[in-house]
Amino acid sequence: MAQHGVDAAYVTRPVSIAYLTGVHADPIERLMALVLRPDGATLVVPALERENAERAGTEAALVAWRDGEDPYAPVAKAMSGARRVGVEKAHLTLAAADALAERAGVEPSADLGPQILAMRRIKSASEIEALAAAGRVTDAVTEAVMARLRAGQSELEVSLALGAAIAAAGATLAFPSLVQSGPNSALPHALPSGRRLAKGDLVLLDFGAASDGYLADTTRMAVVGDPDARQKEIHALVLAAHDAAVEAVRPGITTGAVDAAAREVITKGGHGSAFFHRTGHGLGLEAHEAPSLDPGSTTVLEEGMVFTIEPGVYIPGWGGVRIEDDVVVESRGARLLTAADRTLYVVER
Ligand code: ZN
Ligand code: ZN
Repeated sequence: MAQHGVDAAYVTRPVSIAYLTGVHADPIERLMALVLRPDGATLVVPALERENAERAGTEAALVAWRDGEDPYAPVAKAMSGARRVGVEKAHLTLAAADALAERAGVEPSADLGPQILAMRRIKSASEIEALAAAGRVTDAVTEAVMARLRAGQSELEVSLALGAAIAAAGATLAFPSLVQSGPNSALPHALPSGRRLAKGDLVLLDFGAASDGYLADTTRMAVVGDPDARQKEIHALVLAAHDAAVEAVRPGITTGAVDAAAREVITKGGHGSAFFHRTGHGLGLEAHEAPSLDPGSTTVLEEGMVFTIEPGVYIPGWGGVRIEDDVVVESRGARLLTAADRTLYVVER
């Protein structure tokens, strides 16, 4: 706030509010906002979230508004006297900015969004422990669900099995699970369908558990029946790329260098054009956050950064292979937060 010369910050992204206050809430269309002033903070929440916010034990003064009341009245009060206000430009809509101007008499004058994202990029010890806990649940669920895969199950049924196993472990899903079989595995973001697992299919499971709001994100591969030579070869190639990237991680190198370590292996293996996405993404309260491991990216790794390593090879009509783990950057290199068996699981027919 001092750097931007603002005397108030108006934070509205729910994940930013969760990070700054510990209050995890989805207000849907209702107004929820954190007003930060040099002398304190006010969290304005819909009445539906009052008890949730109280339980979280935030240090911000809590003001709840009820349906039918003007949610901007407590915002205006918390903003009184502010002249320059920082907001999150990537989140605040034009309509919300207009409402802020009309009802609270302040206009956004700076973008604090990138600063908040930068703060979230380095994880504290307690954040890393939550990420590791999410990883442990995810590992156990991977092994349990892989052992129960059978030909004839639909992708949707397998995705429900992932959710059920995570629930049984007392956790929640980090994001909607991806279960892709056969040719569907060549579509990196395809949602589960009614397609049934059949002999010869590659099966890709991309999912994760959440612990205290912090997420895990892993991908493991199976094949129905004995793998053929090409399935084995491409799986081994992607695993070698994954391991090379994990090995490359250390403080001081760039995100682009980690990407290059994975990409070089796949390119040398003859499938460079089939690895058409970045090597990984930051992970924390969100499944995709900073840093991004794009080709050529220049973010310098620092201790405490947490991100995925997830090279893949996708061949239309044939299928795809991706292997994904979560790592934290430590002084000597990467520590894996997920560790389930990375071999190609073989599903009995
Ligand atoms: Zn994933
Ligand atoms: Zn991912």
